[in-house]
Amino acid sequence: MAKVEELSGENLYACYQCGKCAAGCLFADHMDLLPNQVLRLVQLSDESVLSSRAPWVCASCLACEVRCPKGVDIAKVMEALRLLVLRTGETGLRLWEIPSGVPQIALVGATRKHTP
Ligand code: SF4
Ligand code: SF4
Repeated sequence: MAKVEELSGENLYACYQCGKCAAGCLFADHMDLLPNQVLRLVQLSDESVLSSRAPWVCASCLACEVRCPKGVDIAKVMEALRLLVLRTGETGLRLWEIPSGVPQIALVGATRKHTP
């Protein structure tokens, strides 16, 4: 998916599916696709990845980048996918579904995901 490569600046084909990113992702349990699966679909230019929840759940914590033997920054790939979805006028995040009482920083982070 050339657009994701352009927006993220990452070499998507460096990933060889070792799975270390998914193993270390604290948010993987809440994702419909694991970080390495997101990478694989992007490599295959499978547009179904654009309807995945995973990029919206990703907290950009960079734990995956630290673990990746190939230095792939998945947070940037997730951001690129969010941007592509936002540019279609859609969003994978609904602010009114966020429960009350969540930490303020979580709200700030969620709002930033709405900024194309
Ligand atoms: S850790 Fe890196 S090389 Fe391994 S699956 Fe994840 S992105 Fe691919
Ligand atoms: S940056 Fe996103 S995908 Fe990577 S470990 Fe953190 S939450 Fe998971």
